[in-house]
Amino acid sequence: MIKRLPLGPLPKELHQTLLDLTANAQDAAKVEVIAPFTGETLGFVFDGDEQDVEHAFALSRAAQKKWVHTTAVERKKIFLKFHDLVLKNRELLMDIVQLETGKNRASAADEVLDVAITTRFYANNAGKFLNDKKRPGALPIITKNTQQYVPKGVVGQITPWNYPLTLGVSDAVPALLAGNAVVAKPDLATPFSCLIMVHLLIEAGLPRDLMQVVTGPGDIVGGAIAAQCDFLMFTGSTATGRILGRTMGERLVGFSAELGGKNPLIVAKDADLDKVEAELPQACFSNSGQLCVSTERIYVEEDVYEEVIARFSKAAKAMSIGAGFEWKYEMGSLINQAQLDRVSTFVDQAKAAGATVLCGGKSRPDIGPFFYEPTVLADVPEGTPLLTEEVFGPVVFIEKVATLEEAVDKANGTPYGLNASVFGSSETGNLVAGQLEAGGIGINDGYAATWASVSTPLGGMKQSGLGHRHGAEGITKYAEIRNIAEQRWMSMRGPAKMPRKVYSDTVATALKLGKIFKVLP
Ligand code: ADP
Repeated sequence: MIKRLPLGPLPKELHQTLLDLTANAQDAAKVEVIAPFTGETLGFVFDGDEQDVEHAFALSRAAQKKWVHTTAVERKKIFLKFHDLVLKNRELLMDIVQLETGKNRASAADEVLDVAITTRFYANNAGKFLNDKKRPGALPIITKNTQQYVPKGVVGQITPWNYPLTLGVSDAVPALLAGNAVVAKPDLATPFSCLIMVHLLIEAGLPRDLMQVVTGPGDIVGGAIAAQCDFLMFTGSTATGRILGRTMGERLVGFSAELGGKNPLIVAKDADLDKVEAELPQACFSNSGQLCVSTERIYVEEDVYEEVIARFSKAAKAMSIGAGFEWKYEMGSLINQAQLDRVSTFVDQAKAAGATVLCGGKSRPDIGPFFYEPTVLADVPEGTPLLTEEVFGPVVFIEKVATLEEAVDKANGTPYGLNASVFGSSETGNLVAGQLEAGGIGINDGYAATWASVSTPLGGMKQSGLGHRHGAEGITKYAEIRNIAEQRWMSMRGPAKMPRKVYSDTVATALKLGKIFKVLP
């Protein structure tokens, strides 16, 4: 395979290879994919519809019927090879991600490494999570009880444009390892990252038809996937999550969703301010803030407020922004004009309401069409949309608080509950973390440590999501549970001919004794 890409349209051969992997490669209508660094055309994909989704489900269902008979060992081998291929091809993968998202190299590297980490974790542990489990039966010794995991069938996966490589495959990996097929719909802005992942999966030995990708509009293709899948994994906005939730609720089919956030970060007065200065730009501006878990609100205890705003503004101002594959750029572009307009509107509203711009606050057309500076605002007046709504851009506001209690109240005063962070001594950090209403909490870290701790489930509280990715739950959610109870030697109704009352009294006595001697689960 090609090792590196030019900063320009996708090379013809690679483009064709990726197009051939879509289930709707025969469609007539095309949609252009734009490279945000320059606004130029990167390539195109086909504009799919309901029939294409139907076709994808037919192919993947047939493939799943065979896949279900493969052993855990066979599956593990394929995914460990995929892990190696991802790392081997990482420069190419970073190039593709950067070309279609406009993000900086380090953020693209995060995506590649995340795929490897998640894949290794599930390849090594899927067998353990999904093995048949012997459980204590209803009647000790007499009832033999087993819990079995059964694949759901075909899992639907709908993903956004912000982390197209990670989200394009990392949730599919456990679904496939659990014996399912996957029909995926990447965002139309970023289809190639997901497709190159499928290419590598096939190279690693995954049956060709098991993971299908359909490109097309969210409501049409995504809606058709939701209407047919046996489980839906969705990452995107809370608004779309609600629409999909209605479909899944009506169908009574399982649904896991990671949705929006308005993530708070608290700086306590006993925080190490060098750490704060080093970490805050990462927490707020990674991937230009287009990250569900990135920090959009900062609450600082008053003793250290002035120093924190001085240090943080200086660090944000010093960030290098640029278009290109070079590692030196600390921040890249926004994804498109709509996102630039969205970010500008939030900031302009806040400025008009009287907010102080500590740094940034403007677009950078001199670098590329959709660039926006890292922006830190203070004194944002009550009622300004920026205070409560998710911006999904490189914009954060900072506020002074008198006490940590006030900080916690403000942090929790939102319908969202995705990620939160606290900077302080270990004692303060853990004390505050235990009071925050968020699915992921970083102590002296923004979001990276919780995200990369893949052994523990991660998801949103409140309106930030349903279910979790990562950990045991990140794979068992893709399976049905079969509870098999084999009754041996004696009926559940007691020995033959024993009067029911006598049996009932005997069981009651056994339950009492079982509790006293702690022999029952
Ligand atoms: P974002 O604001 O991050 O783009 P969206 O929720 O709009 O979040 O999009 C996330 C994913 O959901 C994308 O792949 C998009 O195409 C898809 N999508 C958007 N609207 C719908 C819908 N009505 N039904 C199903 N999928 C949708």
